[in-house]
This record gives sequence, C-alpha cells and structure tokens, in this order.
Amino acid sequence: MTHHPRKRFGQNFLIDTHIIKQIVAAIHPVPKQNILEIGPGQGALTAELVASGATIDAVEIDRDLAQHLQQEFIQYKNFHLHCADILKFELAELAVERKTHKLRVVGNLPYNISTPLLFKLFENVNNIQDMYFMLQREVAHRLTAHPNTKEYGRMSVMAQYYCTMQVILDVPPTAFSPQPKVHSCIVHFTPYIEPQIVVADHALLQDIVTHAFSQRRKTIANSLKDFISQEELIGLQLDPKLRAENLRLMDYSNITNYLAKD
Ligand code: SAM
Repeated sequence: MTHHPRKRFGQNFLIDTHIIKQIVAAIHPVPKQNILEIGPGQGALTAELVASGATIDAVEIDRDLAQHLQQEFIQYKNFHLHCADILKFELAELAVERKTHKLRVVGNLPYNISTPLLFKLFENVNNIQDMYFMLQREVAHRLTAHPNTKEYGRMSVMAQYYCTMQVILDVPPTAFSPQPKVHSCIVHFTPYIEPQIVVADHALLQDIVTHAFSQRRKTIANSLKDFISQEELIGLQLDPKLRAENLRLMDYSNITNYLAKD
C-alpha cells in the first residue's frame, strides 16, 4: 500500500522487524485475552497480535488506513476494527462487550495525544489489566520520575497514583518511517489492583496537582492558597515553603483527603 504519512495524526510507522518482535514478545498475547490496539496504522504490530489468537480491537482515526486494515485482516474473526478517535472512544462500553477479561491496551502512540490519552486511560483503569505504549523518551522519564528532580511533574504524580511503570525497551528513530526527531521507549504500565494510596476524590487530587505544578517555582503556600492555608499545611506536617516538586504522591494524597473531608 502507498500511504503518505500524515503529520497531524503523528504517523511514524514502525519498520524495524526486530523491534516489532521484541515489543510483541514483551506483550505476550495469548488466546482469550482482549487487546485494544491504539493507532494500528499499517498493521506493524497488529499482524503479530492477530496471529496470537487474542481478541484484537483496533482503533484507528485515519480512514484510508482503516480501510486498508479492514481488507488485510478481514479473514480473522478475532480482529475488530473501529475507525474512530481514541480520545472520544467509549472504553467502558468495549470493556462491557469484552467482559470475560480486562483489556490489555497497547500501541505505538501518536505523540501529540499521549498526555490526554494517558489521563483518559487512568480514568478507566478499573477496566484495564495492563498497557504497553511506545512513548517519547522524555515522556517516559517524566512518568517514572521521583520527587526533587526536574522531570517530576503532574504526569509523574498522577501516573504513579494509578500504576506501576517500567521502561522495557529503548527505540531509536531509525526504527520508524518517517524517522521522528526524538528517541522513544516502550513503557509497561500495570494498574494497582489494590491501590497503595487511596484518595476519596480523584478529580480533586488532579486539580491540586495541576495547580501546584502549573506554578512549580512558587512555594506550595502560594500555589495552593486557594485550596489550603499555611496553618493547615503545617497541620499535615508539610513545610509551606516546599515547592510542587518536593511533595510525594503521599503528600498530595494527604492534602486531598484532608480537603475532601469538608
Ligand atoms: N502502530 C503503527 C506502527 O507502529 O507502525 C502506527 C503508529 S503511528 C505512531 C500512530 C497511529 O495512530 C497512526 O496510524 C495514526 O493514524 C493513529 N492515530 C493518531 N491519532 C489517533 C486518534 N486520535 N485515535 C486513533 N488513532 C490515532
């Protein structure tokens, strides 16, 4: 098929067969599993996923690519194509349809939507067994960053609330066509079955973390003043002079649970 890659859809197709095999081996799909592939593109990962016998739901926004995929995999009863925008796709509905097992979500993600997409997936984490994503290396580092580092931010706190993460593979630009300007990584996300820290109000946690990091150079007394007073911070054993990057997930959770009690 001749397809001119569309920049607006973040189309960098995997062409390195060794890397493709390594990714699929890490995912290790088996029959009866339910796999949701985001952005199958020209089917680089899809072919191997389908061949495993697992049930594959693939969501592709590009109509030309979707048409091609539909033709290519038409004979496989375990392949289901959805020509749709994953950011608008009803994950909960798919989970109900594939109710036998939780979803395994995989994909070489379009980098321009990786942040909103990860947030959407975190909201649906109860329906997800695990996730394997190709991400820009910087995003992978932010996800797994520790407090007191410059990579640590809103994404680190929220991702670490929902999942454990492991970078399993570095992927150079030469593995793609066209080649992206950045390096990539495969990250394995495993949602907590029993959350290690329980927050009563997830939206409030996200709001607090977003506020703190949107003014990360300010003290928390200042950046969080609309939520909590200096005295209350001290009451929670938090120095009001600390900055967003000094607080651990546990600290953000304590602030959230304290405020949620009101
Ligand atoms: N999986 C293929 C591969 O590895 O070669 C393609 C990966 S390419 C980086 C990203 C794919 O996601 C493209 O096929 C693109 O059209 C698709 N895509 C982009 N935005 C999307 C969206 N909002 N919803 C679903 N698919 C999207």
